[in-house]
Amino acid sequence: MSFILDFLRQKAPNSGKEMPVYYKKALRITAVLMTVYFLASFTWFGLAGGWWEWVPLVAAAIMSATLLSIDRMGPRLAGLIESFVIEAWCAWCVHSFGWNSSAQQLLIAPLMLSFFNVSEKPALKIWFWSGVVALQMALYAYAMGRVEVHVLSSQVRAIFQTFNTISLYTLLACLCILFSSNVQAAERQLRLDNQELHKEAGTDPLTQLPNRRALMDEIRRFLAHSAQEPFSVAIADIDFFKRVNDTYGHNCGDHTLRTLADKFRAVLSDQFKICRWGGEEFCIFMPGLNLDEAGVVMHDLCIAVRKMPLSFEGVDFSITITIGVSENDFHSPMDAILEEADRKLYIGKNSGRDQVVL
Ligand code: GH3
Ligand code: MG
Ligand code: MG
Repeated sequence: MSFILDFLRQKAPNSGKEMPVYYKKALRITAVLMTVYFLASFTWFGLAGGWWEWVPLVAAAIMSATLLSIDRMGPRLAGLIESFVIEAWCAWCVHSFGWNSSAQQLLIAPLMLSFFNVSEKPALKIWFWSGVVALQMALYAYAMGRVEVHVLSSQVRAIFQTFNTISLYTLLACLCILFSSNVQAAERQLRLDNQELHKEAGTDPLTQLPNRRALMDEIRRFLAHSAQEPFSVAIADIDFFKRVNDTYGHNCGDHTLRTLADKFRAVLSDQFKICRWGGEEFCIFMPGLNLDEAGVVMHDLCIAVRKMPLSFEGVDFSITITIGVSENDFHSPMDAILEEADRKLYIGKNSGRDQVVL
């Protein structure tokens, strides 16, 4: 029942000439197929020798005129005209050939068009549904009480029935393909956009490294799956970075942060997760490595940064970093392990910088 309540609570955007692409396609497909249907009816009516053959021709003319002016009319008017032509045709067929002509099956098509129109309010769709149901029942009552105007031979009636059934199912199949593929495409795009947003939310715009939130998510995922695995974390901080900004300018500071991030990516294996922890601090998560192994990796990184040539607007300079490393002791919470790395970083800062403290 909840899906019906959800349907009733739906809000419809203002219906204007800006119709959704898929709905315009649906109106076009219906107009094309129904024009073909009416022209085919016109042809075989002629073969059957009836005087009533101009009726499908008029219907074909209205359908093709609607097809050509869908953009000018807007979705509501185009949908209404198409629905009206189909409904009038059904009524005329039941009046002329009786209930067994099966033309009244075509009433499902306007119903589908109405329900797939996002610009239409739920109340209006329900009214439309009631109208179609009432019309179908009225036609039945009308057909039962009287003899049809044109009595078709059983062979011609069988052909008309088959023709109506095939035409309706073809139209329904086309509309189903259109509407379902549109829903799937919209969902696919939504998922891709969400992924992109999620990535952007977890990426530092300056260095394009993951930010603190993304790293903490990564660590949480690791702990959830490999709680018994060793790992180490390191916090690296640029030494006297304020001087870089003060001496060469803030842009040079930004350039330095970007170059350092590239260096981290180049030196460190992909199995480690590097993030911009904040300001001029970086955090490196090393799954599977104990303190000694992580120490070796961080020593190499420290040396690589010391040797890294930096140049900005013709000025050459270099930087160093200090790194504090801690390992998973299998009983401390993650915050405590990170605080331990931070504490060691400050020990390094107070004892000369440009070093790794284990
Ligand atoms: P220490 O060796 O003790 O770490 O000295 P420090 O100068 O690196 O440390 P301090 O915390 O005094 O200064 C850090 C500076 O980093 C201050 C701030 O302006 C600079 N900074 C932080 N984020 C950015 C950034 O995104 N771009 C630039 N250009 N500078 C930044
Ligand atoms: Mg700092
Ligand atoms: Mg610093």
